[in-house]
This record gives sequence, C-alpha cells and structure tokens, in this order.
Amino acid sequence: MQTNEQEFRQAEQFLKDHDDFLVVSHVQPDGDAVSSTLVVGWLLSCLGKNYVMVNEGPIPQRMSYLLHSDRIMDLSVTTLDKSYKYVISVDCADFRRIGKSSDYFAADARILNIDHHPTNDGFGNENLIVPTAAATVEILYDLAKWLGFTLSKDTATAIYTGLLTDTGGFRYASTSPKVMAVASELLEYGVNGPELSQLLLEQMTLPQLRLLTRALNGLQMTDDGKISWVIINDEDMRKSGAIHEDLEGIVNYPRNIQGVEVGLLFKVIDEETVKVSMRSAGTVDVAAVAQSFGGGGHVLAAGVRMQGNVEHVVVQIIERVKSRL
Ligand code: AMP
Ligand code: MN
Ligand code: MN
Repeated sequence: MQTNEQEFRQAEQFLKDHDDFLVVSHVQPDGDAVSSTLVVGWLLSCLGKNYVMVNEGPIPQRMSYLLHSDRIMDLSVTTLDKSYKYVISVDCADFRRIGKSSDYFAADARILNIDHHPTNDGFGNENLIVPTAAATVEILYDLAKWLGFTLSKDTATAIYTGLLTDTGGFRYASTSPKVMAVASELLEYGVNGPELSQLLLEQMTLPQLRLLTRALNGLQMTDDGKISWVIINDEDMRKSGAIHEDLEGIVNYPRNIQGVEVGLLFKVIDEETVKVSMRSAGTVDVAAVAQSFGGGGHVLAAGVRMQGNVEHVVVQIIERVKSRL
C-alpha cells in the first residue's frame, strides 16, 4: 500500500478525467527525464488518451533505442501549433526547469507534477512527489501498478533506463531494497541489463573522451583539498567535437578525488550564463547550496543555472560551499 495513497488517487483521476495532454520533462533531458516521458506516454496510451511529448533540448543520442523516443519533440528546434490545457510534468523540481515547453501551456492550464526531487516546490495543481524514490520512473512504476497495468518489455526497458542512470548504475545511496526489487522484476520482463549498462554508463564516444581529457587538464582545487572543480567552455566543446550529453559524468571526477568533499563542473553556456553541477561526498548538502542560488536537486547531486561570467560564478559558488564545510 502506498503511504501517499491520496496523491496516487488524485494522479489517477487527473489522467482518467481529462484528454489531450502535453507531457513535459526538464531542459536538456537525462535518462530519467526521457524515460519518464515515455512511460507517461505509455500509460496514456493504455488509457486511450491523446497526448504530445515534448521538452527543450535533444534526446541524448545513446538513448535512441527507447521505443518512441523519436516522438518526443525538441522545442529548442521546433514549435507546436496550439496550447494545452492538461499538462503532465515529470522529473522537474520547479516550473523553470520545464523551460520553453511552458510556452505551450494554456493560460488556464492544469498541471500534474510527478517528481522525486526533495527540492520540488509543488508547482502543480496536483502533485505526486516522492522524495524517497530513486528516480521519477520509480514513481511511474508504482503508478502503473496502482492502475493495474502489466508492463510491456519496452516500458520495462524505459523504467530500467531511468533507474540505472539516476542511481549511477545502482550505486548511489538512493538504491533502496525497493529499487533492486523493481529492477529484478524488470529483468524478468526481458530487459537486457548488461547491454544497457555498457551503452549508458561505460561506452564513450571519442569526442566525449577528448572533452574529459581537456576538462581534467584544467582541474583545480582549493588549498585544503576539499573542493575541486573543472570549467568547460565553448572552445573545449568545439575542439573536442563534443555535444551537450558528453558532459554527463565529468563532474564525478573532481568529486571522486580522495579528500574532496564537493566536486563541481562549471559549464559556460554563454557570456552571461553558467550551468553549475555539484556533487557531494556526503558532508555538504549541495541541494541546499544550489537552492540558495535558485537551483535544486538532491543532497548529493544538484545543479543551478547562474547569471554572470564564469570567474565570478566560480568565486560565488566556492564561497557558499566553503561556508557549509
Ligand atoms: P546535473 O548536475 O545536471 O546532473 O543535475 C544534478 C541534479 O540537480 C539533478 O537531479 C537535476 O535534476 C538537478 N538540477 C540540475 N540543475 C538544476 C536547476 N537549474 N534547478 C533545479 N534542479 C537542478
Ligand atoms: Mn533528471
Ligand atoms: Mn530524476
């Protein structure tokens, strides 16, 4: 039995009572965002509903094996011809994370907000927030069970993808007994676990490896060795031939250095904007640091978009992290 039965009941009503949905996830979608979008699409199909799946930013190329991932429209390069009254948002901690997709919300739009970030501010009209879930797909797995649906192999593969990527390969503290039980059941559906691990966690493209090399060449550290960071700018991206998804995982390198408490990645978006990724070894709550600048995330993995040039942003973030050490 779900402890948040009321929220599941309201989510069920939202899906059943309405039609013609817009399914959205966050900008620059990761494995959980893409998979959650597809699982919601599958749930809506099972219910005989119409829907469109969108987000701002491309689907990572290595996730193109996910069934219907080609149907998720990238609103950074395309537009919709109408607005939607019923919106289902997945894996978004706050409204801003939805990005351009929110341009297509009707003025009187009703939003069902399904998410697992502890920093989620409950921006939906209905909110299904489970901070103990390792990934948004874990909540959607529960919702599918709640609705009495039997998973297809493709849906099982999507759920496994979200679990695998958001737990860093079933390694992070979020990997609960429940996650392992769900993953075990998904394998019974025929999901190819080793193949997905190889594809999503181990395989690197050459541009990705070149980008990592450039990033590590510039690795910096505070004198006490507790904060370490890398900066990636446009030139790094251009010279290595890398694309946005190649940034995934780089922030773990500074964090993994022995003695480091917080690892940071500063990605220069343009002269005015820097995306900051934060990873903690345990002592510092980086979600709180990110939130203090308007971002969010999890205790050990968080992020924020900051205004200002990169030198200034680095100083601001390091000062804030230091104050929490
Ligand atoms: P990333 O560093 O992009 O891998 O993100 C780490 C975690 O922080 C993920 O759970 C993200 O959903 C969250 N996060 C990243 N950027 C933001 C942001 N600008 N606002 C809120 N949460 C974020
Ligand atoms: Mn995500
Ligand atoms: Mn997630």
